[in-house]
Amino acid sequence: MALGQLNVIMAKVIEHIKNAKSTLFSLEILPPSTGESIQKLFDNLSPLMEFKPKFIDVTYHREEYVFKKMANGLLEQRSIRKRPGTVSICAALMHKFDVDTVPHIICGGFTKEETEYALIDLNFLGIDNVLALRGDCIKGQKSFEATPGGHRYADELVGQINQMNKGIYLSDELQNPTPTKFCIGVAGYPEKHFEAPNLKTDLKYLKQKIENGADYIVTQMFFDNKKFFEFVDRCRAEGINVPIIPGLKPITAKSQMTNLPRNFYIDMPEDLIDAVERCRSDDEVKNVGVEWAIQQAKELVNHKVPCLHFYSMGKSTAIQQIASKLF
Ligand code: FAD
Repeated sequence: MALGQLNVIMAKVIEHIKNAKSTLFSLEILPPSTGESIQKLFDNLSPLMEFKPKFIDVTYHREEYVFKKMANGLLEQRSIRKRPGTVSICAALMHKFDVDTVPHIICGGFTKEETEYALIDLNFLGIDNVLALRGDCIKGQKSFEATPGGHRYADELVGQINQMNKGIYLSDELQNPTPTKFCIGVAGYPEKHFEAPNLKTDLKYLKQKIENGADYIVTQMFFDNKKFFEFVDRCRAEGINVPIIPGLKPITAKSQMTNLPRNFYIDMPEDLIDAVERCRSDDEVKNVGVEWAIQQAKELVNHKVPCLHFYSMGKSTAIQQIASKLF
């Protein structure tokens, strides 16, 4: 059966939010590593389907450089992608679970033409949602370098998608080009993006993404709701009025107390650090992480956030425990 023949009506994230009577549930997953089967991903997601996620985001992972030792002893630099398949995973999930999917598309590694081709693929598949991001620099690079002929910042990428929604493609020689109808999400950082000199500047560019056509914001993970509430207040004061979806991640290992701040430039609340430090096993850490996320989620629901977006990183047990208390 082709995707177009599915009985479900696929919807945009912004429509789900508008039609919701209460806080929605959504997920973010990573494509399997090269060589891993898609069945493992299906098995992980299956137990979460009873909580009816309204959409599932699938991350995009650009190429990275690895060094391979050759027979002559010299090192050869190779470019590889460890988690390809974002678009096909989206199509497979729609097909398997009748759920809306949101592929992440990034500036890095793409010319504007290649971005257009990727968006045409999505359009043909009936995928009308995207999360538009700049992407990080390639491992080993000091800072993000735009691909020649590509976009430097996410606001430019949002602009290109928005043009396609108006039927304006890169070539001006097309006869009656069909407008796409993408719902565009963008990233926001309650604790500021690490490169931004301050939150005010970061919000100026966040606002630019909205003015260029983005429909909603999904935040970086945070562990202190106060930071999210302050961020929303600051956004509203700057005239950013689109829905802001909080991103949540349950702690599942002690090592995350240092890994997450290092990789995502976020702070850990003292109470959470103390509680995790008192744990004597990984199971105890998981219990603390789940309980913390439940308390965070309940407070966010009381504040009527549009959706709770969970970073699953391929694991479902903790999110299943949290969702069973909320949805
Ligand atoms: P931008 O909005 O372009 O901002 C990047 C920096 O530049 C900020 O400091 C901003 O203040 C500044 N800036 C923005 N516009 C301008 C401008 N016009 N002029 C000058 N400065 C400007 N990465 C991936 O590779 N794949 C993923 O799937 C992925 N998913 C993510 C999902 C979420 C919800 C989040 C929060 C992040 C995700 N990331 C992903 C990480 C993201 O790519 C990085 O955080 C990246 O460094 C910034 O992306 P952005 O879209 O926020 O960039």
